[in-house]
Amino acid sequence: MDKKLVVITGASSGFGAALAKKLSAAGHPLLLLARRLDKLEALDLPHTLCCSVDVTDRQAFTQAIEQAEQRYGAVDCLVNNAGIMLLGSVVDQTPTEWQQMFSTNVIGLLHGMQIVLDKMKQRQSGTIINVSSVAGVKTYEDHAAYSGTKFAVHGISESVRWEMAPHNVRVITISPGAAETELLDHMSSEAIREDYKSWKSSIGGVMSANDVADAIMFAYQMPQHVCIRDLVLTPTRQQN
Ligand code: NDP
Repeated sequence: MDKKLVVITGASSGFGAALAKKLSAAGHPLLLLARRLDKLEALDLPHTLCCSVDVTDRQAFTQAIEQAEQRYGAVDCLVNNAGIMLLGSVVDQTPTEWQQMFSTNVIGLLHGMQIVLDKMKQRQSGTIINVSSVAGVKTYEDHAAYSGTKFAVHGISESVRWEMAPHNVRVITISPGAAETELLDHMSSEAIREDYKSWKSSIGGVMSANDVADAIMFAYQMPQHVCIRDLVLTPTRQQN
């Protein structure tokens, strides 16, 4: 197989699942990670290892990558896409929700990079794609903790990009605006969720998971000597 191994976290729905299909169609062997194994397996992609891994579980994350590398060779690209968005006012959101978001969106992403970066450095080649958000560049109402996690993704990515540049390893940040996925389903505040949904309808709908997966494919498929540092994409009708 001439195409190299790509690891995608959060591949059981949304952007991750759409990207898995595109990369597989382009001939890449894949390691797909998420907590819901049935959803990963239902994608039914060739040359693909599916593992139920919570990205906050460092050991499980490491073991899955080792297993995939034994089967398909070195990881060429890690897409740190797993994430949760629990919106709420800082006045009454529970610390448990802050913890969940920081553990998944920030610590999980750091785990992923630390697991693969040393070998990429040694090979003088590789790509990290961190999925942030337009909420990692600007702020919105009820987004304090979520935006905090995504601003962190930007800061971390830029710092790691600086560290990795001399080793020819790319660090790319993808910052989508609103897109239609399962992201809103986990929110505890029904009022905020419903407001968000009506805003999406008011602008005539948002991007699809495929739109975002296409942007990730574009960034990854540039030659190794070109690093798209930060790609921000939103629905054209999204003003904020
Ligand atoms: P989805 O909810 O559809 O997908 C999220 C994915 O993350 C799922 O596959 C979920 O799988 C996985 N996941 C969540 N927590 C964990 C965990 N602890 N360990 C492993 N996997 C986990 O939403 P999106 O596709 O929209 O989200 C993908 C990324 O895009 C997120 O980082 C999100 O913040 C970001 N984003 C989304 C936007 C949007 O409008 N949709 C806009 C901007 C950014 P499972 O539950 O099976 O573990």
